[in-house]
Amino acid sequence: MRILLVEDEAKVSGFVARGLMAERFAVDVIADGQAGLELATTYSYDLVILDLMLPKLDGTQVLRRLRSQNVNVPILILTARDAVADKVGNFEAGADDYLTKPFAFAELLARVKALLRRGPVSRSSVVRVGDLELDRLSQQVRRGGKRIDLTSKEYSLLEYLMSNAGRVLSRTMIIEHVWDQSFDGITNIVDVYVRHLRSKVDDPFEQKLIHTVRGVGYSIGQGAHS
Ligand code: CA
Repeated sequence: MRILLVEDEAKVSGFVARGLMAERFAVDVIADGQAGLELATTYSYDLVILDLMLPKLDGTQVLRRLRSQNVNVPILILTARDAVADKVGNFEAGADDYLTKPFAFAELLARVKALLRRGPVSRSSVVRVGDLELDRLSQQVRRGGKRIDLTSKEYSLLEYLMSNAGRVLSRTMIIEHVWDQSFDGITNIVDVYVRHLRSKVDDPFEQKLIHTVRGVGYSIGQGAHS
């Protein structure tokens, strides 16, 4: 496991690097944001530990640029800035974790290990199936670039189908994911909502994306059952 540590305080970086190396991680240490950005885009790290107040380019800028270049490495912010606005802003910019100085090495190590267990995750908020696009952040759906208005249940159903594109989803699975605990089981509710969804997402278009898998459930994809 290779970790990039971007930290300009030699005392902190020395202490963290030594501790991580003792845990058998390979650690590259760099003291300015610009060089950190270059390293993080050049090499494939398993994790980046990033200070915020850095020479040349601050940590938030490094974070934003990495995410805008689709570098999906887990990033832990290690900073003296403890304001809620700083934490929220950096999480929104794509940070995975945030630890404030002063910190105990044991806690940093526990967070590092937790992030590494999770691994890189897709950061894109947009899921696509063919020319159908769903943006989880704005909750907008488009097909062929044209906006499609859905009710909130139709949206949830489509989001669940698209998140599992290519998989056959049973009616039970769909009910469990899209309806809540209080749902008392009108058996054909899934079929009713799939029909609503099809009328908006498939009927106006030549290529049908939502497929019925007889006796089982539904799937979404460009080919039949795929
Ligand atoms: Ca600093």
